[in-house]
Amino acid sequence: MKVLLDRERCLGESVCTAVAPSYFRMGRDGKADLIRDATDDATLEEAREAASLCPALIISLKEVH
Ligand code: SF4
Repeated sequence: MKVLLDRERCLGESVCTAVAPSYFRMGRDGKADLIRDATDDATLEEAREAASLCPALIISLKEVH
């Protein structure tokens, strides 16, 4: 799975960094940055939680083959 972030639409509410610190951190401009986009079994739930809780609905997971 790959994590996608539509950064331009980020509201900067830091939900993602709280629930999925393996994937997100806040950038200097107040928007979230993706630290990495490839998931692994240990942290996939983190990514799923961020996608479901992001108030802007701009985090998604995509199957990659
Ligand atoms: S939870 Fe969504 S809106 Fe909030 S900082 Fe993260 S990506 Fe941006």
